[in-house]
Amino acid sequence: MTELKDKILEGIKNTTQREALGAAMRRGREGRASALQILDQPDKLRERVRRTKEGAIADLDELLEEFTVNATKRGATIFLAKDGSAAINYIAEIARVNNAKLITKSKSLTSEEIEMNHPLEAMGYEVVETDLGERIIQIAKEKPIHLVFPAAHKTVEQIADLFSIGQSKIQPDHPTIMKFVRENLRNIFLSADIGVTGANVAIAETGTIVIETNEGNARLVSSIPKIQVVIMGMEKIVPSVENAIDMIKAHPTSATGQQLTTYISFISGRSPLNDQQGRKLYIIILDNGRTKIRSDLDIREALYCIRCGACMNICPTYEVVGGHVFGYIYPGPIGIPWTAGVHGLENTDFAALCISCGLCHEMCPADIGIPYLIAKVKEQQNLKRGQSFVNKIMIRSDEFAKIASTVAPISNWILRLPSFRYLLEKTLGIDRRRHLPKFSRDTFDEWWSTHIPMVEESQRKVAYFVDVYANYNRPDIGIGAVTLLEKCGVEVVVPEQKTSGMPYFSYGELEKARAVASYNVEHMLPFVRKGYCVVATEPTATYCFKELYPRLLMNDESRLVAQHTNEYLDFLTAIEPFKASIKKVFSGKAGFHISCHQRALGKGQATVDLLRLTGIAVKVIETGTCCGMGGTFGLKAGVLGYGLSCEVGLPLFELFKKWEVDFGLTESSVCAMQLEQGTNLRFEHPVALLTAALDGRSEYLDHLRTKDEGPAN
Ligand code: SF4
Ligand code: SF4
Repeated sequence: MTELKDKILEGIKNTTQREALGAAMRRGREGRASALQILDQPDKLRERVRRTKEGAIADLDELLEEFTVNATKRGATIFLAKDGSAAINYIAEIARVNNAKLITKSKSLTSEEIEMNHPLEAMGYEVVETDLGERIIQIAKEKPIHLVFPAAHKTVEQIADLFSIGQSKIQPDHPTIMKFVRENLRNIFLSADIGVTGANVAIAETGTIVIETNEGNARLVSSIPKIQVVIMGMEKIVPSVENAIDMIKAHPTSATGQQLTTYISFISGRSPLNDQQGRKLYIIILDNGRTKIRSDLDIREALYCIRCGACMNICPTYEVVGGHVFGYIYPGPIGIPWTAGVHGLENTDFAALCISCGLCHEMCPADIGIPYLIAKVKEQQNLKRGQSFVNKIMIRSDEFAKIASTVAPISNWILRLPSFRYLLEKTLGIDRRRHLPKFSRDTFDEWWSTHIPMVEESQRKVAYFVDVYANYNRPDIGIGAVTLLEKCGVEVVVPEQKTSGMPYFSYGELEKARAVASYNVEHMLPFVRKGYCVVATEPTATYCFKELYPRLLMNDESRLVAQHTNEYLDFLTAIEPFKASIKKVFSGKAGFHISCHQRALGKGQATVDLLRLTGIAVKVIETGTCCGMGGTFGLKAGVLGYGLSCEVGLPLFELFKKWEVDFGLTESSVCAMQLEQGTNLRFEHPVALLTAALDGRSEYLDHLRTKDEGPAN
């Protein structure tokens, strides 16, 4: 981990790289968002892509056979390579037999996976990358930083310098660089002996491979040399042309925001070229760990990846450190399970950079549950080398909250003492710079134990899930939530429950996460069967019920509870008299932050609409990714915790300051902790604000307008 921490620090300090990479990621996100608006029924396309990949991986043996038969009929020679060495040796043999010297390449991430270039160069062959990004990386002697934009971290000046090596200086502007690259590559294209390409898709029913590019160079690489070698992962095969067309649509939409890539080549065997004799096509189908991934039903869906790179474009920690830190050869979120599968668990230390925000899943055009796959990798790491001490502490943060609440207000006083915070850092690994929330001596549990329900029986029924913060820190939120419901005539119960269990998931303790999920589902289930709706005031808890528990438990009970789980304020919004009763008692400006887990559920729009009814001008303030807190991640001491968490949050802090709001609003307790510290504003839970509005307490905003100074240092 020391090496990873050093690399994170380097990544944080490399502001040039951060700016260049951040700009590329924003373009990717914005492009995708615009493309989805134009695309006809994007959700349906996502479903079809998912279904196709599920079916194709399930039937892979048959599809491989079908593809082999059909491609062979069209003149291709098929080679099944069990690993990278087998594939490289096969290419070397083709080169030797054909007396080749120059090999051109295009669109082959799979050849990057097996690190094909160096062994071939060591054998005396010249290997030239022809995709612009890959060419830059080859000259810079680096690895791709991103699946789709391999040189996204390079500025135009750096690129011009790289191409100027060994010759006169090239001007750092795009047209000059492009002209130079075109002229430089022209002769290489024309004199190549072997062209190596990848395949975006392979079609079993026709034996065709499909290559998508924006530069057109793959057509030169695949058509001019006498020998074409395609190297592709076995997961690229789909049954039909119709399926391939879905992939061709989904890929650019998510990758760059294009409706289609500029050039799409369907290659079914080789066409004649002038009077060139002996034109051959070899297709290497690579296993390299894929069979193992396929056989493990828990992680099989990693093979559904269509390599669009969208998960990278949204990942908050990746955006700060880039794929040379957040990656091995495959970078970014999906790079974690892929690296474990094809390069081994020992190369997956960077999994610690995943803060379980869940955003990558939301972006994925193949609907891959990437956070779950990452949690599986973390679980395997834990089994092999044990859980780290600091993570063990973070997992038990609810116990810490319970103790702190029992001894409040002493705990609040002591937690503000610099000497005690120093001690906490040294003993428990909680960063001394982190401002911890205040704890309450009175808990929601105590209040509820004496509460006499205002509504005995009603058509509208809620089973309320409290979680840590509304119990030990801000019981007024839990009490307010119940009171608002009861005022609306809703019957409320608070079933037996544990906390959401999210920290177990985040740190790869999946058995414990499953036990918590099972307990919570089991205790909610009888109420759900009687018509109750499960609601929580903490978005992460709602996310657990709706997304995580069904995934962990894979049973009908958890799915039923998930179907009947709703965001608290979504539930309340549906009650028309409630909206009508909200008074316009406030004025001023507030910035609203939608937590990542809330974004996965419903984008928080209902909450914003409700809050505006109180008279406050509510502005949604977003960077498009995360605030950086990542649950308990931002509590941890050092750069792999507090340090990185603040770097992730920086752009969001700046936005809040720029909009000059009076205070902030968010439903997530951990986002509030991060944003209060990062902006010096106070952040409030919408339930507390709505409660005050209904009571007509206009003075309620006064304390929110004071600045949060945090503990003395
Ligand atoms: S869950 Fe969030 S932090 Fe983790 S890999 Fe996905 S986007 Fe990145
Ligand atoms: S995991 Fe999904 S979002 Fe990430 S590269 Fe693969 S298909 Fe794209």
